[in-house]
Amino acid sequence: MLMQKLQRFLYGRYGTDPLNLALLILGVVCSLLGSLFFRPLYLLTDLLLVFVLFRSFSKNIPARQRENQAFLKVWLPVKNWFRFQAQKFSQRKDYKYFRCPSCKQQLRAPRGRGNIQVTCQKCHHVFLTKT
Ligand SMILES: [Zn+2]
Repeated sequence: MLMQKLQRFLYGRYGTDPLNLALLILGVVCSLLGSLFFRPLYLLTDLLLVFVLFRSFSKNIPARQRENQAFLKVWLPVKNWFRFQAQKFSQRKDYKYFRCPSCKQQLRAPRGRGNIQVTCQKCHHVFLTKT
């Protein structure tokens, strides 16, 4: 009985998405900073939580998807940059990363090969570099 009512209530609702997760994480950060440094941040935490609940239970799914797409348009390049930095760091002993002097394309070459001639795959510029 209760489960059926809950299912009926949740039917057609938006649910959660990466934007809601980011807002929740931001809420936790605001809560921690508010408890340590600046009390009014608690108000921001409450507002974020209310907004997350509003988005989760909203029936206006296209509007929530547009919000999420706008968020992802900003967030994905940031996330990919951090992922690439982590990859560079994990491969730092095996590969040297450098940029093409002509088009600034990010390139990599195996370390320990001495001076090598590199042909950029994007602009076909040929240059020498040390690995
Ligand atoms: Zn290039």
